[in-house]
Amino acid sequence: MSNAREAKRIVVKVGTSTLTHASGHINIRLMEKLVKVLADIKNTDRELVLVSSGAIGVGMGKLGLRERPATIPGKQAAAAVGQCELMYLYDKYFSEYNHTVGQVLLTRYSLDDPESRRNVRNTFEALFGMGAIPVVNENDTVATDEIRVGDNDTLSAIVTQIIQADALIILSDIDGLYTADPAKDAAARLVPEVREITDALMDTASGAGSSRGTGGMLTKLTAGRIALAAGADMYIVNGRNPDVLYDLTEGKPAGTHFIAREGC
Ligand code: GLU
Repeated sequence: MSNAREAKRIVVKVGTSTLTHASGHINIRLMEKLVKVLADIKNTDRELVLVSSGAIGVGMGKLGLRERPATIPGKQAAAAVGQCELMYLYDKYFSEYNHTVGQVLLTRYSLDDPESRRNVRNTFEALFGMGAIPVVNENDTVATDEIRVGDNDTLSAIVTQIIQADALIILSDIDGLYTADPAKDAAARLVPEVREITDALMDTASGAGSSRGTGGMLTKLTAGRIALAAGADMYIVNGRNPDVLYDLTEGKPAGTHFIAREGC
């Protein structure tokens, strides 16, 4: 697929650092805008999946926690509170544009076990058939560290693979993949296109994420490997302005485009 204009089935992933303010509370303006753009893109006869992080971050904000809980039960409790709030808001905002969302919480087991994986795929297909927009997250309240997917970049790529989506769009807090860390190196340049995610490229990506989310460039490149191997193109774009999704679906270049080989 040469660009996202032809993509009919699209997975969009949004991370905690895009969805929330530094305080941990929801960035309402951004979330409303994101939903509005997604609802509009859905109106162009596409099938959309939204993979949304933010359960732990939003839970922290709601519970007044300044630091990410250190213990597993602490994180899980924050996720339980935050996931509710997230879905409440997605339901409310998408309803304003006459769209219906369905919550899909996945665990690594449900993605690894062949029968569960089939069930997951069938559920997505049924939701598409009903015109609903699946909103996906990891089931953080039950998944302990040893059995977690761990980050939603990877989760979104696995979903892309399972439902054979045409494109995966990762909304990040940076414009795309750079030749070096732009925060540290003024000579860093945005890479517009990547055709192969080599080990050397992986080595240049640092694993650091924000204090509220878990992803960094490394998890995005890992996601890219999964998506490209499944024949889906991946895009990393800056989610600060959700209008970038219009650019992509209208065939305009934005961020970094990871191009899957034809015939994958
Ligand atoms: N599932 C986690 C949450 O909703 C996010 C994982 C990630 O940041 O990638 O808080």
